[in-house]
Amino acid sequence: MLELTCPSCGSLIHLKIRSPHMITCNYCSSTSILEGESWKDIGKLAILTETPSIFTLDHLYSHKGWDFTPRGRVRYTYDKGRGFWDEWYVISSNGKASWISVDEGDIAVEVSEPLPSTPLPAFENLKVGMKILMNRKNFMVAELGTCTMIGCEGMLPFVIEENDTYNYADLLGTRKEMYTIEYEEDGIKLFKGHWIDPYEIKDFAKKY
Ligand SMILES: [Zn+2]
Repeated sequence: MLELTCPSCGSLIHLKIRSPHMITCNYCSSTSILEGESWKDIGKLAILTETPSIFTLDHLYSHKGWDFTPRGRVRYTYDKGRGFWDEWYVISSNGKASWISVDEGDIAVEVSEPLPSTPLPAFENLKVGMKILMNRKNFMVAELGTCTMIGCEGMLPFVIEENDTYNYADLLGTRKEMYTIEYEEDGIKLFKGHWIDPYEIKDFAKKY
């Protein structure tokens, strides 16, 4: 396994995802980001307040035969601070990456999806309740909002700046299918996913 020496405290950090760009050290809680070929210490970001969470970093979980381990977490706050949710960066036993969003009891698994050939509507043109055709299926705009990153931990595949804000749209389909469109500064990102039942997640209580 590849290793990195924490630029802040010198502890050895085992790299648990393929190409991390942002790492928070377990020992000193400092966050480092990859700049070109070298790691730069950007200091301590906001500590994630520990509310009971369904996942623990680096533990093994399973959902209907799909085994995965959370390796990173980003916390976002909704507009006007009416609460927050977590996005867990998880790696499957086959090495594939996905995201699990946890908003209290609502849990969705999402993977990054290429943008469709017909351009997605601009954020300003969306309204809650509106129908959008995605992959020849109807999806309804269920939620529109603005979110801000307020903290992170573990290892992430990209650098995300604290207080980075973007607009998002949650689209709901039938059979627990969903899409999230993120309208970010560097372009639109699309994620396809489905809602899962938290009671169907098995916790092996084993650290990996
Ligand atoms: Zn450290």
